[in-house]
Amino acid sequence: MQNSTPVLIVKKFGGTSVGSIERIKHVASLLQGKGKLCVVVSAMAGETDRLLKLASSVTSDPEPREVDALLGTGEQVTASLLAMELISRGVKARSFDGSQARISTDGIHRHAKITGIDTSELLASIDRGEIPIVTGFQGVDTKGDTTTLGRGGSDISAVALAAALKAKECHIYTDVEGVYSTDPRIVPNARLLPRISHEEMLELASLGAKVLHPRSVYFAMAYKVPLVVRSTFVEGEGTWIVPEEELMEKPIVSGITYRTDETKIRIAKVPGGIESIKRIFVTLAERGIFVDMISQTGSSEGKTSISFTVLDEQGKDALKIVEDACRELKASEVAVDTDIAKVSVVGVGMRYHTGVAADLFTVLAREGIEVSMISTSEIKVSILVPRKYCELAVRALHDAFLVEVSVEK
Ligand code: ADP
Ligand code: ASP
Ligand code: MG
Repeated sequence: MQNSTPVLIVKKFGGTSVGSIERIKHVASLLQGKGKLCVVVSAMAGETDRLLKLASSVTSDPEPREVDALLGTGEQVTASLLAMELISRGVKARSFDGSQARISTDGIHRHAKITGIDTSELLASIDRGEIPIVTGFQGVDTKGDTTTLGRGGSDISAVALAAALKAKECHIYTDVEGVYSTDPRIVPNARLLPRISHEEMLELASLGAKVLHPRSVYFAMAYKVPLVVRSTFVEGEGTWIVPEEELMEKPIVSGITYRTDETKIRIAKVPGGIESIKRIFVTLAERGIFVDMISQTGSSEGKTSISFTVLDEQGKDALKIVEDACRELKASEVAVDTDIAKVSVVGVGMRYHTGVAADLFTVLAREGIEVSMISTSEIKVSILVPRKYCELAVRALHDAFLVEVSVEK
């Protein structure tokens, strides 16, 4: 189809940005006189949590279809309030829910994936001179039911819409000035990054930096959507997410991040060597358990001890599978630890430099922080530490890699 909107920009406003009527009015003021736009909104800050709590106060195991029907209302409230505010200012606007915006998804409630977007209704709205205000986070499945894309999913809606509408740029407006070298809420001297590569952003987002949803970064990379993160409240250019080739400098470390939503399971003294280990992991995979870090934690007299991490939400299922398997295999014990944090150091420069692990362990040794697991990729090193050391590890590593010139050895 011919692109009828060559200078269209998609702007997405997160929960805090639309968290009150005053803030919705402020967002409206940012949209007036800004040319052709398509706007994506989140629910007001705290609303999705509130709705989830309501569901769990009815039943501990709510039907996923009904949870999505409920969660979808959060974004609908903001979309219609913002459209009303714009109309009252004399700006043509119209709200669209996921179905009206024709955002098709698969039928996996609460973690749906976008399968296609029919842009005809949105383009018709733009051609009428309106600003379409689209609910983020939601779509519709082939049965016509509302689906949601996973927590933080409005970012995905925005970038997917920008790609489908062939928008010139996608602007993500949030409550911080852009992407920082680490979470500015826990490290006050975190640095605002003017640019960061797609791959680094994808790693940081997947490893816990919730400023962007990882799938939104993936869409930006796959569909070449120019993407920027900036503040709703403070003027500034923010952070552009760019192809690695466009980065003049390739810092060894660009960012540090952490997540605290994983559970560690340790199986001690499994007899039968690699065959038994294989059986455990094959069963976990068959039951849809996503295993993250793995380490062999000892081997003696033909028995192996092994530890791995899974997402907290899959912890109970994983434990049941492991306990059943271990009874059969006669492993001596299974232990669970939820008091853990995964801290990650990310940077494209690691491709070209050695010594990051050495510097990392120097810092951890200096701070007395024990590490129980490690995983690496070309551009990141992740470590598992006791949760009480999470913030200390993030701060110390940030100071060493991003503030101090060199690490004292
Ligand atoms: P929104 O509601 O606008 O989508 P989020 O709460 O999802 O906003 O994401 C913004 C938050 O991400 C910030 O308030 C900040 O605390 C957190 N954050 C974590 N890591 C980073 C980082 N490296 N850079 C910027 N923000 C980060
Ligand atoms: N409202 C949803 C959430 O809180 C989606 C989003 O804000 O991106 O997760
Ligand atoms: Mg978010």
